[in-house]
Amino acid sequence: MGVETSQRLTRRVEAIRASPTLAISRTLAEMRRQGRDVVDLGVGEPDFPTPDFVKQAGIRAIERNQTRYTDTPGEPALREAIATKFHRRGAPIDVSQVVVSAGGKQSLFNACQVLFQEGDEVLFFSPYWVSFPEMVRLAGATPVIVAARADNAFRPTLDDLRPAATERSRGVILNSPNNPTGAAIEMGELAKILAWARDRGLFVIFDECYEFFLYGGRPHASPTDLWEEHASHVLVSGAASKTYAMTGWRLGWAVGPKPVIAAMSAYQSHSTSNASSISQEAALAALTDEEKSTASVKAMLSEYASRRELIVSALNAIPGARCPAPDGAFYAFCDVSALYPKAKVSGSADFSRLLLERAGVATIPGAAFGEDRYIRFSFAAAREEIEKGMRLFAEFTSLL
Ligand code: PMP
Repeated sequence: MGVETSQRLTRRVEAIRASPTLAISRTLAEMRRQGRDVVDLGVGEPDFPTPDFVKQAGIRAIERNQTRYTDTPGEPALREAIATKFHRRGAPIDVSQVVVSAGGKQSLFNACQVLFQEGDEVLFFSPYWVSFPEMVRLAGATPVIVAARADNAFRPTLDDLRPAATERSRGVILNSPNNPTGAAIEMGELAKILAWARDRGLFVIFDECYEFFLYGGRPHASPTDLWEEHASHVLVSGAASKTYAMTGWRLGWAVGPKPVIAAMSAYQSHSTSNASSISQEAALAALTDEEKSTASVKAMLSEYASRRELIVSALNAIPGARCPAPDGAFYAFCDVSALYPKAKVSGSADFSRLLLERAGVATIPGAAFGEDRYIRFSFAAAREEIEKGMRLFAEFTSLL
């Protein structure tokens, strides 16, 4: 018995693919160490600080010694506040149907663990958030990827989804607004997909962590708007991360059928237990002080909206780049495939790497999201950074 035996890794993790964004972040860190000026339009998190009233609630929690374990599925007051948030949308969600986790990511991961297993197929659209395929695989199930149509602004439709279903289909994961495309599902289409899923006995996981970031007054379509009809087969996951600029606090939630929520809570009780007690207090302030939270979300949305205008028009002014305006979220997903021959690259990973090495602009290759013709620019960055990034990108393309 040697090192090789003792260090054997499980088949489960052998299947994990290292985060495709890792190579870019490594190169970026190395370039910065060497003193190079790099514009980071890769990161997918708000550049705003957490609003002050939310920070203060966290500080108060520490001062009041709210530093112990809480109930695994979350402090009753926070679960109540999350339920109330949905009551305002007309969904009669009970506290027993709410679980609080360390970020939306943990809610989604736990949901996959309790709902999917070997032999199951789970459908979701590409371009997809990078963790969906791995979460499905880690549950033992098989991802079935359905291409959303670029000529339909990458919005999910039942017509595109339906042909991918088989007798092994067990679930559907939807993300709206979408990372990386920003595509938002329309209410009519959502209603059709939910009814179809119910009739086929499929469970739907709906990730709405960008729910407040929609442009041009577009409304957010959520399954909780259709809760009376669909409460038995849908789970909705959300997070404080983007809405309240709280990515580092690690605070998310899920609402769904009581047995599913109870299983997720039991699962969590043997892995991480409760989300941080301090973060829970901070999120409670964000969810209950409606006036202040509405004002801070509004301010962030208006800033994102003007950056969106800026980046989309700058990208479309570059010959060979084509960038549709995203419905929501804070990413510009740009078709750069017309530039591949000139750049002498065969795909988005090489294009993104070249753009970083030559021009010092970090982006995420579309291949990470299952769409190799595109690269993703985040506009959760200061305006000056976006302007500089666009100047450098234009220069880079003109020199190809
Ligand atoms: N879903 C999507 C689509 C995301 O983009 C992210 C964050 N990048 C998450 C879920 C997870 O967010 P968190 O765990 O930080 O709440």
